[in-house]
Formats: sequence, C-alpha cells, structure tokens
Amino acid sequence: MPSVHICEVGPRDGLQNAKHLMPTAAKKAWIQALAAAGLREIEVGSFVPPKLIPAMADTAEVVAFARAIPGLKVIALAPNLKGFQRAIEAGAHKVTFPVSASRQHSESNVRMTPDQMVEEVRRCAQWPHPGVEIEGAVSTAFGCTMQGVVPEDDVVRIAAALAEFCDAVALADTVGYANPAQVRRVFRRVRERIGNKLEGAHFHDTRGLGIANALAAYEEGVRSFDSSMGGLGGCPFAPGASGNVITEDLVFMFESMGLSTGIDFPKLLAARDLLVKGLPLEPIYGHTPQAGLPKGFRASA
Ligand SMILES: [Zn+2]
Repeated sequence: MPSVHICEVGPRDGLQNAKHLMPTAAKKAWIQALAAAGLREIEVGSFVPPKLIPAMADTAEVVAFARAIPGLKVIALAPNLKGFQRAIEAGAHKVTFPVSASRQHSESNVRMTPDQMVEEVRRCAQWPHPGVEIEGAVSTAFGCTMQGVVPEDDVVRIAAALAEFCDAVALADTVGYANPAQVRRVFRRVRERIGNKLEGAHFHDTRGLGIANALAAYEEGVRSFDSSMGGLGGCPFAPGASGNVITEDLVFMFESMGLSTGIDFPKLLAARDLLVKGLPLEPIYGHTPQAGLPKGFRASA
C-alpha cells in the first residue's frame, strides 16, 4: 500500500486551461500510460457545458474509457446537479464539486454565492448515486485573485457544511496564493472541525511554493494530493492562476523521503512523452524530469 496517494488532475485541471486542445485519442493514451505508471486516481475531465470549456466536451467518452482500466479510480468534476447526473451516467467512480470560499470567485465561476453552492452540492448528495463517492473541494481556500484575502473562518465554515453530506473534503489553493505556514494553520483548523473527512490537498505552483505547501500539508497529516504532470493547469475563471504542483517532482519528493507513492518513475516519464506528443505546443515543466534522478536514487518500495 502506498503511504501517499497522488491523484493526477492534468487531464482535467491541466487540459481545461491549456491553450491547445488534446485530441480524445491522445487523452486516452495518456491516461492509460498514467495508470500504467501506478497512478490509481485520475481526474479525467469535467462535466461542464462544452460551450464554456471545449477541452472537456469529450469527458463522457473519456470516463467510459478510463473505467475499463483495472484498479483505476476515475474522478470527474461537476459544478451542479446536471453535471453530476452526466457524471453518474458516464460511470465516474467519484465526483468532485468545487465550492469557492471566495464570494467573488464563486459568483463569477458558477453564478452562485458560496452558501448557495453548498446547497447545490447538498441537492446532488440527495440525488441517488449508488457506489459513487462525492468530494467537496473548498477552492480559493488560501486567497483569491479577485477578492484577495479569503477569511479562514469562511473556509472552516464551508468545509464543515460540506462534511455533513460529502464523503470527503479537500482544500484547494486554486490560484497559488498559499504559503506553508498558512497551509499548516488552515488544514489544522479544518481538521479540528471535521476530523478525517478532511482528505485532499490541491496546490498550484504559481509562486513556486506548490511543493513546499504539499510538504506542509503532509506534516499536518494529509495523505492525498492532487498534482498535474508537467505542471499543466490553472483556472479559466481565475485570472493569473497557473499550473498545478508538478506530479513528477511531487513523486520524487515523497519517494526520496522514503514514502511510497506506488508510482514507477521511468513509466511516469513514458506517460510524460505521451503528454508532449498530445500537446506539442504547450509548455511542460518539471525539475526532476529535466535533471534526471540523482545517482544512486532508490525508490522507496
Ligand atoms: Zn486547480
């Protein structure tokens, strides 16, 4: 069993913000290679109106494909009941609902206040969804490009409301405003309120602190992390947001600390080749892939 669970969100968070579209066949090949590298959870797409985000128009087909990969938990994002119904119909194992703690971000993103969005997720949780997990992700939990400061009390309150009816709750630094001291403080406060319902951490590397924030969350007991291959990512409705914490570097950090991720590094690089092939014009990042593994490096497991 891995000590740390890494969820690859590149096919959703990465591609929805990429300047170029990845063809469906290339997405499937990439997801297959990610699973072959040992990633057991992949967020493969988002059930939003295709007119809004054309890169996610093929999500139902991609979910159906990914479901056939043995041992893979297939995650999709949904912003409302309609998206949730489409996710269930397509066969997603888990659906993540983003609930922004920033009122301004929430209103521009989903045209609802944070509290109205919590009620929308409650409506979804009441909809029959046998065998489908629900996660409430508190987005802009560490700051917002529109509103600036997001009060920690708001984050705790929204996380507590979501914990009433979600299987799990995550905290997301959607726009890369977090620092490690803040991460420790906010995760600790939310943990005190909702206990083990607090599962995941989602960081962006906008100011280069993504990996430091991931370590801070680890030290607060978090064992589930979102990241994206090559640091793809951002948020189309949050100006200034840039890529997620880089999967390759996150795997390297944990493995070099002796913490098993279950991920095979050479196979991860093979998946990275497919990402580059599928999106040849998109900038792809990653310190470890560029430098290579250190001499004498041994994976933890
Ligand atoms: Zn994100």
